[in-house]
Amino acid sequence: MSSTFNILIVGALFCVLMLLVLTSLLRSGIPGIREWWVANVLACLALVLYAFGRELPPFIGYELTNGVYAAAAAAMLAGFRRFYGRSRMTPWLAAGVLLAVAAIALFHYRFDSYAMRTIAVAVFQGAICLGIAVTIMRGRSDWRSHYPSLFTVGMAAVITLGHGIRSVIYLTHTGEVTSLLQPSPLNLFFVSAGTFVLPVLTFGAVMLVHDTMLAAAELAANRDFLTGAWTRRAFFEHSEREILRARRMGRQLSLLLLDVDHFKKINDTHGHGVGDQVLIDLVKRAATVVRGVDYFARVGGEEFAVLLPETSREAAAVVAERMRAAVAQSDAARGKSKALPPYTISIGVSSLRGFESLHDLMRRADAALYAAKAMGRNRAVSEAGAEA
Ligand code: GH3
Ligand code: MG
Ligand code: MG
Repeated sequence: MSSTFNILIVGALFCVLMLLVLTSLLRSGIPGIREWWVANVLACLALVLYAFGRELPPFIGYELTNGVYAAAAAAMLAGFRRFYGRSRMTPWLAAGVLLAVAAIALFHYRFDSYAMRTIAVAVFQGAICLGIAVTIMRGRSDWRSHYPSLFTVGMAAVITLGHGIRSVIYLTHTGEVTSLLQPSPLNLFFVSAGTFVLPVLTFGAVMLVHDTMLAAAELAANRDFLTGAWTRRAFFEHSEREILRARRMGRQLSLLLLDVDHFKKINDTHGHGVGDQVLIDLVKRAATVVRGVDYFARVGGEEFAVLLPETSREAAAVVAERMRAAVAQSDAARGKSKALPPYTISIGVSSLRGFESLHDLMRRADAALYAAKAMGRNRAVSEAGAEA
């Protein structure tokens, strides 16, 4: 058995392996995986056909085998396009595959030239890999971490270059070129490299999918399921970082603690479902007041915290009052629509002092909140005790 035969069979087995990996990812529903799955089925089939090429009728050995391999590459590109939210471009890709097969037939039946057939295949495969590299680069704004994207772009670029070099070598050495199934050193190199193109690109695709799933899991862990506000866990992590930064840069930083007034009564009177709607409504109203850099989190059942970077206590008191008013003013409108019962919030405000910890900052905001409750609720109170 020739070494090229063995390499092609190992390549086909690699595709089977990648298929098993992709199968485990199918249920994630992430766009692109189905196309990559199809690509590996086709590539596996094509590699087996290549391996037995010399024992097959010429039409199957040339046109069909290369056609299937071209379709595999096209499906790979379609997968990357879907992954980045673009269309599959099926008609264009199908036309490209047919054109490649037509070129192979031309250099088989009309002008029988092994070199020209090889060049036709290399140009098509090179164009597909270039398409993959361009697709990933265009999706840069969606890159989560850089390694999987750079790996895949790099590989696609190297493969494009490889096909380019191969085309040039075959163009300039047409007479000396022997069939890929002949074990010359150059052929061995091209067969080994070419065989692993699809599995390597699939490796990149799998890494990209894992990255996407990780980002989704992180988001799920950091966002409150009911209101969409950041979770308590995310709030503590983020705030610790922001406090360190504020200290390092000598910047001000403030904190608001919000609590719905008489929430237990709302639940008792209108039911838990309405209580939940009140919480959702509160987050929506608060969102109209906070800036992009502010961090709004649900830290307890009906308690929320807002971290305000680069904000003095006076400015924070203004934000707090605006937030209180945004909730209280909506009462009239709500009274008319009867969608939700009227509700109010109380807010405690504190600002970072010297080298204190998040714990201290929160304790003082909590004391201010307690004071707001004691003063009759529906108000914002700063830590000094003065009404905001
Ligand atoms: P105060 O004005 O002093 O804050 O009175 P309160 O009734 O709001 O205070 P308390 O802390 O006693 O009540 C909080 C209530 O919030 C108790 C709990 O059943 C309710 N709660 C906590 N989490 C949720 C939630 O996710 N949904 C609903 N509907 N209720 C919740
Ligand atoms: Mg409470
Ligand atoms: Mg309350």
